[in-house]
Amino acid sequence: MTDNMGTLLNLPMMIDGKSVTSAQTIAVINPATEQVIGHVPDCTRAQLDEAVAAARKAFPAWRATPYAERQQVLHEISRVLAENAEELADILMTEQGKPRADALGEIHAASWWIVQVAQQELPVEVTDEMPGQRSITRHVPLGVVGAITPWNFPVVLGIWKIGPALLTGNTMVLKPSPFTPLSTLRLGELLQPILPSGVLNLVTGGDALGPWMTEHPGIDKISFTGSTATGRRVMASAAGNLKRLTLELGGNDAAIVLDDADVEAIAEPLFWAAFKNSGQICVATKRMYVHDSIYDDVAKALTRIAAEVQMGNGADPASRLGPIQNRVQFERVKSLVEDAKAQGLRFLTGGEVQGPGFFVPVTIIDNPPESSRVVQEEAFGPVLPLLRYTDIDEVIARANDVDMGLGGSIWSTNHDRAMEIAARLETGTVWINAAQALTPYAAFAGHKQSGLGIEQGLSGILEFTVPQTIHHAR
Ligand code: NAD
Repeated sequence: MTDNMGTLLNLPMMIDGKSVTSAQTIAVINPATEQVIGHVPDCTRAQLDEAVAAARKAFPAWRATPYAERQQVLHEISRVLAENAEELADILMTEQGKPRADALGEIHAASWWIVQVAQQELPVEVTDEMPGQRSITRHVPLGVVGAITPWNFPVVLGIWKIGPALLTGNTMVLKPSPFTPLSTLRLGELLQPILPSGVLNLVTGGDALGPWMTEHPGIDKISFTGSTATGRRVMASAAGNLKRLTLELGGNDAAIVLDDADVEAIAEPLFWAAFKNSGQICVATKRMYVHDSIYDDVAKALTRIAAEVQMGNGADPASRLGPIQNRVQFERVKSLVEDAKAQGLRFLTGGEVQGPGFFVPVTIIDNPPESSRVVQEEAFGPVLPLLRYTDIDEVIARANDVDMGLGGSIWSTNHDRAMEIAARLETGTVWINAAQALTPYAAFAGHKQSGLGIEQGLSGILEFTVPQTIHHAR
């Protein structure tokens, strides 16, 4: 029995268009209740080989399928997401922990996003035109893409890989996180009628499965979203057959609130920049630098909102924040909070962790030293250091003085000043008076150890292709 879905949800993998189970299974937990809500197969190495072989077998026909037909398939995927949004949102909420409205929002966002991807055309460039010779450069698929996703946004992050990989003519083996596999497997079931067998294979498994994929000689590219530590392992493991890599990794995004910011106007968006999805977002604000002259006002406003926002089971319509998604991450976030206490840091709010469920309350730490763990490490939970600064050059240096470079934000009423500071941040994305918003049309890339390569925009789509130049002597 599960609290939100009624019955255990035991779902199969999808290999070569067929439902596939395995002798061993993995239990999936609802992080709000710590109850088992379903099981998924623990893919064997032989089954992974079958999935890769199926994708390879499907590749020639899929790459030869006209572009317009592949675009149409992406539109169909969008339709399936929209038509099954309620069911998928229930599953996503129950396995991930996020509020029901946010889960539904994620399914609709995925449905909308893949249409935007489908509308893009691949350029064919005339690269050389001279007497006796003409060259064109076009973009051809790589072959079999191995896609690996994390547990914070399993559906939308899966669609970010499925859309461009299939559009450009690749076939796929997709592995969701073992913590949140159910929404992806259910989507896979729903998609099978509209996809040729073997074009999209879904596998689930434990710690061994990811490394098997990244070293697999039958996989040509790995598109990975997850932590920087795992990203390094993926890169090392993929060397055997020189796999192409796109790595979207961790972030430690700084928000810089300038002395001219309108505190009342920005308080809500600042709060959600840090705490949406209980801080489990790669581009969440993880360090908030506030000018000394308005620090106390910002601290007061954030603390007030924290007291108003309810955290709880995503099935409760009053919940606006859910639990940490899994026990491992829960323990990691708790250890950051414990470390802050041991260091004698002052808490503006939060800090007391109570079960059942992996709940960590909104926690704001008052001006901790720059060297403290809570500033230097990506919390990936609802724990935020609020930091004072007085000098703008000094705060930019502090914002940039980390190994990560995913995103950052500037909060100001002076556009020119904000633009000037934005240009000095060493991050792939900078927002002004906003955070986290991504678009299918702009490159999303991590600087430094936040990633390798690009997702989104035409340049993100082209990462699923390799250029082919054709010289024609005439
Ligand atoms: P993770 O790295 O632990 O796991 C991500 C995926 O990799 C999972 O499917 C996991 O099973 C798999 N995996 C684990 N070890 C592997 C290995 N050795 N080889 C291949 N695959 C392996 O990350 P997580 O805890 O699921 O997610 C949280 C992290 O993801 C955070 O650091 C967050 O910032 C990052 N993230 C980044 C983005 C982005 O776009 N940059 C988006 C979401 C999350």
